[in-house]
Amino acid sequence: MRFVREHANINMTGKINLLDYDLNALGSYFNEIGDKSFRAQQVAKWIYHHGVVDYKLMTNLSKTLRRYLAENTIIKLPEIITEQRSEDGTRKWLVRIDDKNSVEMVFIPEDDRGTLCISSQIGCPLDCKFCSTAQQGFNRNLSTAEIIGQIWIANKTLGYFESGKRIITNIVFMGMGEPLLNYDNVLKTIHLLTDDLGFGLARRRVTVSTSGIIPGIDRLKDDANVSLAISLHASDNALRDSIVPINRSYPLADLLAACRRYSTGRAYATVTIEYVMLNGVNDSADDAHSLVKCLQGLSAKVNLIPFNKFPGTNYTCSNRTTINAFRDILIKAGIVTITRKTRGDDIDAACGQLVGKVMARAIRYQKNQVGQM
Ligand code: SAH
Repeated sequence: MRFVREHANINMTGKINLLDYDLNALGSYFNEIGDKSFRAQQVAKWIYHHGVVDYKLMTNLSKTLRRYLAENTIIKLPEIITEQRSEDGTRKWLVRIDDKNSVEMVFIPEDDRGTLCISSQIGCPLDCKFCSTAQQGFNRNLSTAEIIGQIWIANKTLGYFESGKRIITNIVFMGMGEPLLNYDNVLKTIHLLTDDLGFGLARRRVTVSTSGIIPGIDRLKDDANVSLAISLHASDNALRDSIVPINRSYPLADLLAACRRYSTGRAYATVTIEYVMLNGVNDSADDAHSLVKCLQGLSAKVNLIPFNKFPGTNYTCSNRTTINAFRDILIKAGIVTITRKTRGDDIDAACGQLVGKVMARAIRYQKNQVGQM
């Protein structure tokens, strides 16, 4: 059998990790080794429908093929190191990525859905001032295997493969990292999440949250068409420059224009605007009115996120009265607005509190690096 490794992600073992391949790439792989592309469907079903990652158990493949796969490829998953459970049912897992690094992911059960919040990078190269991941610095992008692997091990832990009952119904890229700076691997992960032969989730149930990488937003619309959330947090450039520094590269007006482009022609047109409530920083009535103006002409709903504190931060969360007043101004202006419930507070599992073990390297984001980091 011919064995081509062109696009493969060769790891320490020198073998291809099949979790790095979406269905297309998996099909090409089987063609390249002289087999039929429909093997890709069989293998994907084993991995993503039945939770089987041992070739010996893939009984509809010939023994020769199973032996070949075992010799030349691996199915390597990240591992759960620890689990914490909140009183409210939220579960947080620390996930080993390699010898030096780990990331966190969170499962949030609600009455009508179960949301898994996953990480796309080890640390983050952006420097949002109110986010604890930023303080950890950045090591590297996660591979497709390391991202889809998070969802696989969460499903395994929650008993999905045994019961067939979907417990994780929604995926949000709101853990560590900026997904649109790891574009190619995030896109392949989205393919595996939404493909019927993968996890089969509806596109609108997969949400990519970004601090505003405009070229990535434009590519995502054509490539994936999933739900989009924007970490806006400020409605004027001066303030946004200071708390979300990526704004200096992609300023507000351009970002909002990109959101409008994203919404145009989509069945689920609404873009979610995330706005962290920072006491005395971005939470005045004037800020609310200015946000209303910003969002004119955009199909948007706003999530107000009470600021979650972490060691070393000087920020505090706006008080309830201020948050409610802010919310009411938006609602009066006709904007659907909710204040996000803080979940998993007792285990530091809320937005912006996720920390893993990051061997930081001195890499800071530079413009036009989409997909190249
Ligand atoms: N890099 C992506 C995704 C990760 S952050 C992004 O910026 O969207 C997920 C969300 O949590 C973002 O809206 C982020 O701004 C918010 N967040 C970060 N730190 C927070 C904190 N300490 N309290 C509340 N929300 C926070």
